Amino acid sequence: MDAVQAIPATLRLGLIEGDGIGHEIVPATQRVVDEALAVVGAAVQWVPLLMGLRAIGEHGDPLPEQTFAALDELDGWILGPHDNVAYPPQHRSGPPPGGAIRKRFGLFANIRPARAFSGVRTRSPEMDVVIVRENSEGFYADRNMFAGAGEFAATPDVALSVGLITRAASERIARQAFELARERRAHVTIVHKANVLPLTMGLFLQSCRDVGAEFPDVRITHEHVDAAAAHLVRDATDYDVIVTENLFGDILSDLAGELSGSLGIAASINCSLTKAMAQAAHGAAPDIAGHNRANPAALFLSAAMLLRWLGRRNGRTEWSGAGARIEHAVETSFESGVATADLGGLASTSEFTEHVLARVHRR
Ligand code: ATP
Repeated sequence: MDAVQAIPATLRLGLIEGDGIGHEIVPATQRVVDEALAVVGAAVQWVPLLMGLRAIGEHGDPLPEQTFAALDELDGWILGPHDNVAYPPQHRSGPPPGGAIRKRFGLFANIRPARAFSGVRTRSPEMDVVIVRENSEGFYADRNMFAGAGEFAATPDVALSVGLITRAASERIARQAFELARERRAHVTIVHKANVLPLTMGLFLQSCRDVGAEFPDVRITHEHVDAAAAHLVRDATDYDVIVTENLFGDILSDLAGELSGSLGIAASINCSLTKAMAQAAHGAAPDIAGHNRANPAALFLSAAMLLRWLGRRNGRTEWSGAGARIEHAVETSFESGVATADLGGLASTSEFTEHVLARVHRR
């Protein structure tokens, strides 16, 4: 690089392969991010970290404290999938590593876009939706109590679960949704079920509306989750940004991902106000691991979201530009008919990666 050129700050990114196809798609993602950052003249320092079976082998823990400590120092990270089912029995009962990382770093927002790509078979060719899912409370038993779990059995035949909704967390996630909508088509749909859960879901709905009042330029609609599920299938183009609580967001984002083509292209980031983690929506796919068949597109697109998030937050347009290059490279690869087997194509993981790498330069 020319000595008189301004040298951009070096991004420090964690790289966690995890299990299964993570050993293929995470190194592929690293190459794509490296290439995109190199094209825009930005530097990156990678910090490889252990999670999953290799971590158990080396540290006796699927998510060792060393990994947590290192993540604390980083700008963001790329998380591969984990395959808890393959862990020795004594390591299976704990919280899944991905959830433990989300909890430890307070990654309260799960941002999951679902959009159709030209060249990928889809049920909804025009759809372009982002689901903004609250990630820290709701009806998840592992995260809604100070001590103990939010699910318990009164007798062997009677089980109960507790849902947690707070105004603070609802307003926090709503703000993410409204800010995002301002950069898109200025429409937020609040998805809830306040007719049967008037206190918890009523609080969520009202908190979102209160935040929405600060965004008069953004149109607000709201729907019950069952109606929203049917409406998504009927016409997903009616949606721009959907904000919803944890469990509903989990379900709706899989539905939206599948509608857009396949879970194999469903990207996501998990973020707080200061940290972000790229994580594809799919799992470790042990059935195809090691066969060079996995679709790396969801993780490429998740990494692109991470770069855009880091760029926006730090005012580094070159990082956002690198993210945009990756998205464009994936899109044009699909457009030209290059796809892995899950999408009906013939490309291997490495062939698809080479196509994307070549296109990163062409934007
Ligand atoms: P988890 O609960 O961790 O999400 P899971 O068992 O529900 O895991 P996956 O591991 O995502 O599901 O696998 C479900 C199916 O989708 C498998 O047949 C797998 O091969 C396929 N699959 C998942 N991810 C990919 C991918 N990136 N490329 C191709 N096929 C994939």
